[in-house]
Amino acid sequence: MNRGKPIAYLDNAASSQKPTCVIDSLSDYYQRFNSNVHRGIYELAEDAESLYTNARKCIANYLSVENNEIIFVRGATEGLNLIANTLGRSQLKRGDVVILTEMEHHANIVPWQMICEQVGATIEVIPVLPDGSLDLEKLFNSLANGKARVLSICATSNTLGTVNPIKKITEEAHKHGIFVVVDGAQSMPHEKINLSESGCDFFVFSGHKVFGPMGIGVVFGKASILDILPPYQGGGDMIDQVSFEGTTFAPSPQRFEAGTPNVAGAIGLGRAIQYLSQLDMQEVQVHERKLLKEAQEQLHQIDGFKEYGTTANKAAVLSFTISSVHPHDVASILDAEGIAIRTGHHCCQPLMKSLGVEATARASFAFYNTPEETERFVKAVKKSVAILT
Ligand code: PMP
Repeated sequence: MNRGKPIAYLDNAASSQKPTCVIDSLSDYYQRFNSNVHRGIYELAEDAESLYTNARKCIANYLSVENNEIIFVRGATEGLNLIANTLGRSQLKRGDVVILTEMEHHANIVPWQMICEQVGATIEVIPVLPDGSLDLEKLFNSLANGKARVLSICATSNTLGTVNPIKKITEEAHKHGIFVVVDGAQSMPHEKINLSESGCDFFVFSGHKVFGPMGIGVVFGKASILDILPPYQGGGDMIDQVSFEGTTFAPSPQRFEAGTPNVAGAIGLGRAIQYLSQLDMQEVQVHERKLLKEAQEQLHQIDGFKEYGTTANKAAVLSFTISSVHPHDVASILDAEGIAIRTGHHCCQPLMKSLGVEATARASFAFYNTPEETERFVKAVKKSVAILT
């Protein structure tokens, strides 16, 4: 419920709702298997270890990669920080360039700024065209200019819904020996991801956006690259031998998972991915995009309505403004009607600047949303316009 009305939850790009099986897997772990992993030789610890290991296997399997290429982290943000700090610290040097795009989330900007400042590298930003697509010509020119070492790019924009052609981009980047890091936070819930096909070197996502728990996420890294990277954080579990003279480190993924991990979170995420694997993602996409189209068709009739991101192949994310109405006021009226959407800069301040707006309202759909909810959303937006103009 929301404000006493049945909720129409259209803030899925921020976080998703969880299926019962995921919630049950968390309470099951705490009630029946709660113990630390990697350490105990008693049965309970072995059970916890095997659930944790199975979660990793399940995720690796879903993404078509190897188990030792899956690293558990807190979420996409920590994942990108891990990559910037290990790949960036070991591979970037003064004069190198990291390519980002204008549509990146702050989580895929700030960690690179921090590492570039430390090593003396610079950032080049690829612009977004008026329809919300990436300027591929500029991107390909930059990939070929001999300075870039890393490209870090979202698969799907959280604000525009734009789906970037990751496979093609990766192929092009690899021709020039550039590492490709993909922020998959917004693509995982909407399409079947096959990383051995995509070819990227790194891929990150957050559990809570793919129907899994909060506080858990994944970094995929190609084994051949992870093997040459230094550790991220130091502590227990990531070592081989420790002495005051010097320490040696465990192989991946342990090298990148210092300390007691979020065992329950990993198990819950494994369960969420199992749940996802039972959905037909093709059908999910058709359903979500149908809802998007229904909303678009009606909302575009409103005077002063503007949608940001209008490419044909876009995820079910609808960012909009209505002239002379503040997005926040629209969202407040929707809230009173039981409808949850988001307003603001969506952690994409550079993108907002290039769009020439301070904020947009954003509705984002998931497979469990319905045409009735979409209809209520449209009706409430129309009502807000009637009240506010
Ligand atoms: N990248 C993108 C594209 C996102 O949409 C988000 C979350 N809004 C993140 C990264 C960061 O995810 P988290 O806050 O779960 O770490």
